[in-house]
Amino acid sequence: MTSEDDAGASTTAGPASGAAPGGGDLERITGAFAGLFGSAPDGVWAAPGRVNLIGEHTDYNEGFVLPFALEHRARVAVALRPNGPARLRAASLQGADPAGTGQAATTGRITEADLGHLVPAAVEPWARYVAGIIWALQQRGHEVPGMDILLDSDVPPGAGLSSSAAIECAVALAVDELLGTGIPRGELVLVCQRAENDFVGAPTGILDQSAALLGTAGHALFLDCRSRDARQVPLDLAQLGLALLVIDTRVAHAHESGGYRDLVAACRRGAATLGVHALRDVGPARLPEAQRLLDPDTFRRVRHIVTENQRVLDTVATLDADGPQAIGPLLNASHASMRDDFGISCDELDAAVDAAQRAGALGARMTGGGFGGSAIALVAAADAATVAESVRGRFATEGYLAPEIFSVRPGPGAHRVDR
Ligand code: ADP
Ligand code: MG
Repeated sequence: MTSEDDAGASTTAGPASGAAPGGGDLERITGAFAGLFGSAPDGVWAAPGRVNLIGEHTDYNEGFVLPFALEHRARVAVALRPNGPARLRAASLQGADPAGTGQAATTGRITEADLGHLVPAAVEPWARYVAGIIWALQQRGHEVPGMDILLDSDVPPGAGLSSSAAIECAVALAVDELLGTGIPRGELVLVCQRAENDFVGAPTGILDQSAALLGTAGHALFLDCRSRDARQVPLDLAQLGLALLVIDTRVAHAHESGGYRDLVAACRRGAATLGVHALRDVGPARLPEAQRLLDPDTFRRVRHIVTENQRVLDTVATLDADGPQAIGPLLNASHASMRDDFGISCDELDAAVDAAQRAGALGARMTGGGFGGSAIALVAAADAATVAESVRGRFATEGYLAPEIFSVRPGPGAHRVDR
């Protein structure tokens, strides 16, 4: 295990500070693994975080999304212990509370779980993203032996860039390949979703896991979350003199908490009242009727989903016809809808979006589940530094924590990295 397949994945840093992807190398994770567990891993796998270009909260409404895989990723070194006790031993080089400390520790602390009785309450919260995969595989009838897993991730946790799915997908691909279960990637998406929904307890859709497992470099993934049909949409921003900035507000969110759950419930209520299986089945033409039938709050939630689905379709059509330089107004409209109708923005996200728009971004919106996390801004590459400075200035004036700002481009989906 001497080569790193992805040296080219170093940051597209742009004007930005911090959060450079590819921070840990293969030697670091294999060396730390040997130090912790006393032998070499069987292999090392990586899965990326993601940004969602557009299509927020549409996934669990069986609608459309358009994410892409980041060059930031979670790596896992894994060794099966088929002759040992059926226990999971897991550690993270970022510690058990990466969002809390913001520090990468040099050594991990091992946490253990009994694979014979996997229940979330008996597993440390961070390790549920790992153990949940094993649990979901057991639920599918697979025999899973004891194993050791070390995690090393440069996807910032709680930043709306899906550090959680990066962990799940890296573990799922590793275990699938090591056990030779041969589960197709499209099915692994569902294994990972099941782990997050039913073991971690976050009622998320398939957006994050699909981006991490199905994403490809240079493309966004246009995904129909009902049929699970996916199309790779070319997104070569650099060639067009464009850049996509991520503005991590450093306001951490937690999806297993109540706000997300309430939104899922509002969408279900709206769908039930409108007599459809999911809000995917409600087109813009039915909005006046929805307004008559629903209470004002539920109606606004429904209106976001209905209009956001349409915006994803419009964005893909615009990308096909006119290219990414033309999608700015759709990004701006998406943000307004999340702020005013879905109620998932926050002051810091609104400030980031507003400052970017005023400084000449072609479009900007919050991305991810909301209640904090990151915004994205589509900018002319030549304006990237100015836009980033403007956002930093606005945050300083408002007295907010300094944001992390970095440029991203579509990277590869999950893959083995030590071969
Ligand atoms: P997001 O997926 O948007 O980053 P989530 O709340 O879904 O946010 O997942 C973040 C959680 O994932 C963290 O609170 C932590 O439990 C876990 N996590 C993410 N990265 C790491 C890491 N490097 N080491 C340990 N746990 C991590
Ligand atoms: Mg997550």
